[in-house]
Amino acid sequence: MDHLRIESGAVIPAPGVSFDLYHDLMAAATDRSACFYLSPAAQEAAKTTVYRLKFQPRKLGATTFGFGGLVDAVRDARRLDLSDMGSNLARMVVDSEGLVEGTVGAALDRRYLVCVNVIEQSPNPNSRVQLGTERDALGLPRIRLDWQLSDVERTSLHAAQKVVAAAMQQYGLGELRTDLFDAGDNWTGVEKRANATGALTAFEAGHHHTGTTRMAEDARSGVVDSNCKVFGVANLYVAGSSTFPTLGSANPTFTIVALALRLADHLSTQA
Ligand SMILES: Cc1cc2nc3c(=O)[nH]c(=O)nc-3n(C[C@H](O)[C@H](O)[C@H](O)COP(=O)(O)OP(=O)(O)OC[C@H]3O[C@@H](n4cnc5c(N)ncnc54)[C@H](O)[C@@H]3O)c2cc1C
Repeated sequence: MDHLRIESGAVIPAPGVSFDLYHDLMAAATDRSACFYLSPAAQEAAKTTVYRLKFQPRKLGATTFGFGGLVDAVRDARRLDLSDMGSNLARMVVDSEGLVEGTVGAALDRRYLVCVNVIEQSPNPNSRVQLGTERDALGLPRIRLDWQLSDVERTSLHAAQKVVAAAMQQYGLGELRTDLFDAGDNWTGVEKRANATGALTAFEAGHHHTGTTRMAEDARSGVVDSNCKVFGVANLYVAGSSTFPTLGSANPTFTIVALALRLADHLSTQA
């Protein structure tokens, strides 16, 4: 399993509503971030897996091709570097609409928030990590990964964004606009949008792979028992995120360390 990240949707603040605190926090080049979660009750009611949302502040039109040309042209002109002026001007001409949108957005300081969504992957028995036939430089077999997603992730994200949209409306904060609401079962448009940015699928993996030797009550539903011992082998234990039965949406290392300390305590009582 891995949790999945997708940039999708934008919050247009209601008139008079300011997300300045969020802008100040997120615009600074630090690793701080403020995330929103659905409460367990909301999660259950909406039938979603764990969902995490953070906002990325943007100004209207700031990321368009045309406005990017203008920004780069002004920057280069200040440096007296005119080598890219031709291509910068071409970007402004080709995407004149984006140029206007960005210029208006900058002039009026029209801000909105892009939704960066992280959704928990549901455990999927069809996913497999196996030893392949290819060998690495040390002669060890390389792994063959068959990582399968299911509809659960897509429908969870859809439902979670609807909860956020309803909350935004209820508290008069703004409007959440996303192409996911119209996508239904057909994610062709969402996939196309993702492909345009170079992603392989609409979802990006979070680099937090887990669950290959999941903890369970018996060998039918997992690989290790509650003491991280491999079922059926007397002295083989696993320390790592591969024992997670589910993943949640947060980074795994603290939980890995906590489990490793717990395993060390357990092993010290076995000696
Ligand atoms: C780019 C990236 C960014 C990340 N950022 C964060 C973060 O900010 N916060 C966070 O909490 N987590 C983060 N993680 C996740 C975190 O690094 C992993 O979840 C964690 O390292 C997993 O620990 P592990 O011990 O289960 O597995 P691993 O760290 O993968 O350890 C497995 C070990 O087993 C060894 N091994 C494999 N096969 C064999 C074999 N056949 N024989 C002997 N040894 C073998 C490997 O060499 C390796 O040392 C990040 C991961 C990546 C890739």
